[in-house]
Amino acid sequence: MFGLARWWRRRGLRDPGFSPEQWAATMQGVALLRDWSPAALARLREQTVFFLRAKTFTAAEGARLDDAVRLLIAAQACVPILRLDIDYYDGWRELIVYPDTFVTRHQEHDEAGVLHSWRQPSAGEAWSHGPVVLSQTDVEESARARDGFNVVIHEMAHKLDMLNGDANGFPPLHREMRVQDWVSGWSASYEAFCAELEAGGAPALDPYAAESPAEFFAVMSEAFFELPDEVLAHFPLLYPQLTGFYRYDPRGPA
Ligand SMILES: [Zn+2]
Repeated sequence: MFGLARWWRRRGLRDPGFSPEQWAATMQGVALLRDWSPAALARLREQTVFFLRAKTFTAAEGARLDDAVRLLIAAQACVPILRLDIDYYDGWRELIVYPDTFVTRHQEHDEAGVLHSWRQPSAGEAWSHGPVVLSQTDVEESARARDGFNVVIHEMAHKLDMLNGDANGFPPLHREMRVQDWVSGWSASYEAFCAELEAGGAPALDPYAAESPAEFFAVMSEAFFELPDEVLAHFPLLYPQLTGFYRYDPRGPA
């Protein structure tokens, strides 16, 4: 690391912008982090400091956005990059926080060229090269229970997926990973998941994952960090791909 970066890093860690008590309260409030090792939590704290420095938060529709909420979002947002560089979140700056689910307008041309538009309530959104939008109620619910649902991890997974273009379930892989293994593993698992849903089976994952390969990757990422044993049991082909991409195994010592 060069001089300036090192200085910046040291300064950031000396003056994190939150107190040890605030950090401890955040850790208590995120169920997912309760059994993490001190070393993993120290690394998470470091990433959180850099995240808070690099990002801005905007309150929408009267959201009560205080330090505790910002810290709760930032800490969960840094879970996917625990073992990656903070640069993985480059290229966007803003997080917009609504008090609860928000309604967004969607438009799409169908095959006949007809434009359809509809409004849909959302807990979170990640815009390509743009902001991440979150519902505060859903952020808090995500923190409270380790149940496989985490809107912050979900939107961050979309951001990672978008590092090499549109969200399509194919993020930029590390040099040691094989593209062929990723593509074959994910497409086979996605197809099997959709087929099982269609046949009326009880899905091992939030059925929303069937929406598209991008959603499959984002929903799988939530489950991977929150309930890794379930992901390993139901998606054995994908588990090593996830530990390879996130450079982290939630089942092992963090
Ligand atoms: Zn999504």
